[in-house]
Amino acid sequence: MKVMKFGGTSLGNARRISDVADLIVKETDCIVVCSAMSGVTNTLVDIAALWNRRRIKEAEKLLEMLKNLFLQTCYDLFGSTALPGPLPGSVNDHFNEITRRLKHDYDINGENWLLARGEIITSEIIALYINSRGDKVKWLNALEFISTGPDNEPAVNEIRTGLTAILGESPRGRFLTQGYICLDSEGNISNLQRGGSDYTATLLGAALPAGIVEIWTDIDGVRNNDPRFVENTFPIRELSFDEAAELAYFGAKILHPSCVWPASNNNIPINLKNTMEPEAPGTLISSGRNRKGITAVAAKEGITVIRIRSDRMLNAYGFLNRIFSIFEKYKTPIDVITTSEVAVSLTVDNPRYLREIESELTAFGTVSVESRQAIVCVVGDVLEQHQDRAVRILDSVRHFNVKMISFGGSRNNITIVVPEEERKDILCSLNEFLFENQSKANDSWLISQS
Ligand code: ASP
Ligand code: MG
Repeated sequence: MKVMKFGGTSLGNARRISDVADLIVKETDCIVVCSAMSGVTNTLVDIAALWNRRRIKEAEKLLEMLKNLFLQTCYDLFGSTALPGPLPGSVNDHFNEITRRLKHDYDINGENWLLARGEIITSEIIALYINSRGDKVKWLNALEFISTGPDNEPAVNEIRTGLTAILGESPRGRFLTQGYICLDSEGNISNLQRGGSDYTATLLGAALPAGIVEIWTDIDGVRNNDPRFVENTFPIRELSFDEAAELAYFGAKILHPSCVWPASNNNIPINLKNTMEPEAPGTLISSGRNRKGITAVAAKEGITVIRIRSDRMLNAYGFLNRIFSIFEKYKTPIDVITTSEVAVSLTVDNPRYLREIESELTAFGTVSVESRQAIVCVVGDVLEQHQDRAVRILDSVRHFNVKMISFGGSRNNITIVVPEEERKDILCSLNEFLFENQSKANDSWLISQS
């Protein structure tokens, strides 16, 4: 059994859906996970915001646009005669139901119900289309087997139980379901956060368990650097789970950051594939990466650095614990952290409760906050055999305004914090040092591309 996940851009119009259908029907045993067609969830988010502000007329306008998108897609896929109307009955019903609900008061359950329509309608159209071509695929309702617990996190065992109840112990055949959506612990419709279809795919991969999870997008896998800022980037053929997890967080927006753990815990490889170039190998993420070397550089902007300086920290115990508990109270994750005897620097990427956090931290000492910073991370085997790797990498960025360095947390990365405006230059500089000068430098460790 394999899991295949298709992202919104791979399902962006009828042509793309038909290409995806060709890929699906090549398989005999698979569970297909669909995102919403591209742009749909964004529009639903906008509709929900308007609904919340009681701007219903504007919400209905956006809804009309969305309906037209699906209408056009159905026309293009089925032709006007293949079905009784331009929209399959069920899709039409969804839009009538949304219009009906918008007349009622907004609440968060209503919003989550609305957001789930993107995946539900898209998956219905694709299943209908594949079956209309004479191939078989069975549509499954993800809300019957993807749920989260009281901590809002999904559990693989629960998903396995739910899936087995529907498909039996060793399912065979083609199935198609929705990414992103789930039930919460109280049975309300919820979701796995934006981009969460990747997460659905690896959770299903772990629950089955599948032999492989394929994540299909419209790019050729993870690249070694950010192509928006750096020329001559290349796709990485192999990544370890740990490297993929680092990169998923640090701005390589191809994978949902949470989606790596279900696969790595259950040792199920993830293959990132390109729907535009299905024969290309893509990027394989597995425990088996055996080449050594530096794999990639990535950056994430919009970072805030918080520094707490306090003489009371010297020789005190429990100090960090008390600082961290403030971040916990405001549900704000800390990403990079460095400490000295009398100071702690840390970064957050969610500034929502920054003022509250800052004001509570002042009880411990002097606090300073710097926004508009970027985290740059070098991923790969930064420790293996070459003791001077880290030194030389850091030496290569000595001209930049480095605010924090984190090294040794894992053998897989070195993290550097610089002002946001230096992000492009530092990415280019690292690219030159790590990936372009390798022949000149004759350093086998610099590059891991085969
Ligand atoms: N449709 C959702 C989103 O746009 C989930 C996903 O695409 O993975 O975030
Ligand atoms: Mg995505």
